[in-house]
Amino acid sequence: MTALGPRMVIASHNAGKIREIRALMEPYGIEVQSAAELGFEEPEETEDTFAGNARIKAHAAAQASGLPALSDDSGITVDALDGAPGVYTADWAETPNGRDFPMAMKKVWDLLEDSCAPEPRLAQFRCTLCVAWPDGRDMLFEGIVGGRLVWPMRGAQGFGFDPIFLPDGETETFGEMDPSRKHEMSHRADAFAKLKAGLLDRG
Ligand code: IMP
Repeated sequence: MTALGPRMVIASHNAGKIREIRALMEPYGIEVQSAAELGFEEPEETEDTFAGNARIKAHAAAQASGLPALSDDSGITVDALDGAPGVYTADWAETPNGRDFPMAMKKVWDLLEDSCAPEPRLAQFRCTLCVAWPDGRDMLFEGIVGGRLVWPMRGAQGFGFDPIFLPDGETETFGEMDPSRKHEMSHRADAFAKLKAGLLDRG
């Protein structure tokens, strides 16, 4: 059995990701609920790869729900910072009062300034989607979008690091562009296209 639906769980507590994954799943008529809505605890992300952490989250939600579960582990990798913050993107935003992404974006930009990193400051958003089934099987799909970091922050759309990421060939950051445009080109859309070809379109 590799099929999804009629119900599945989005193994995430991140409102921005849940919103985007819901929009991507909508056309398939699959009823989706998030791990947050179902009251599942967030498992600890103890791996040092996107794939490893995506597997942890998807398997935890599949076991807890008895349904297929889709997780997303993602982040931004900055060339001049040797790929940081990468898998630790969300951690860089942690404060005692929750996540503060403007602070995290400033931290990244200050590091680039301090190291006099040359322009363009190339970066990539990366996403690994994992579908796990309650019987323990899983499938992984990886996506990427390249671009550069800009300062100051631009736009209030999207979430996370979107306001400082200018995708290749675009004039608007992910924070400025219409969400439907981001869905056409994002790392998540790239991974989702592979999931679609490998899973959804096969029925
Ligand atoms: P995690 O996958 O839950 O560990 O968190 C990934 C982090 O990467 C998010 O909290 C965001 O800060 C960042 N991130 C991932 N995807 C996006 C995106 O599409 N836009 C902006 N930030 C993102």
